Amino acid sequence: MSDATTTWNEMKRRHAEVCATGQVGIAPEPRRPAAAVLACSDARVPPSLMFGHPGELFVVRLAGNSATPGAIASLTYAVEQLDTDLVVVLGHTGCGAVQAALASDAPSTFDAIVTPIDEMLTACGDCDDIDAAVTANVRHNVRRLRRDRGPLGHAVRAGRVVLRGAIHDVRTGHLIDLDDHLDHDHQDHDHPSTPIPARSTS
Ligand SMILES: [Zn+2]
Repeated sequence: MSDATTTWNEMKRRHAEVCATGQVGIAPEPRRPAAAVLACSDARVPPSLMFGHPGELFVVRLAGNSATPGAIASLTYAVEQLDTDLVVVLGHTGCGAVQAALASDAPSTFDAIVTPIDEMLTACGDCDDIDAAVTANVRHNVRRLRRDRGPLGHAVRAGRVVLRGAIHDVRTGHLIDLDDHLDHDHQDHDHPSTPIPARSTS
């Protein structure tokens, strides 16, 4: 049996175990999520587990956590249909998608992922290193959601939905709330590259 088949069988076994607890996986009716999270696909940063909300977060994941039209449509669904009042854009240090855009060496196969980040980098005057680029990418996508012309953007600007940006540091396990490191008046500027704070030793 191949390793992949073994992995799949193990996944099915764990699925049965986890869902048998009744804590996740059994909810015939849609429920109001505690929050909607736009996060990277990277396996190291699973929002539902990291925020301690299994089964309670509406999670949209794609490499580079870009607010693509599909991501915006999914988040809009969470806000409009499921009544979510908190949307979080979650990036992470060491993001491969951001690194690929920074290095400009990704094959064209990945254009759909890299191009939105590339455009952000072009507008960013101070994104030469990966940490600065990751930070700018989250802020860029927060701005995209805030400026969205559809119901999501309207709800944010009307104050019905709280929009936040954060970065999970995979080196320390700490969460960096970008709203703690930026004054709100500057949040809509196009060159917001306040670097990730130095690694905490605590
Ligand atoms: Zn990533």
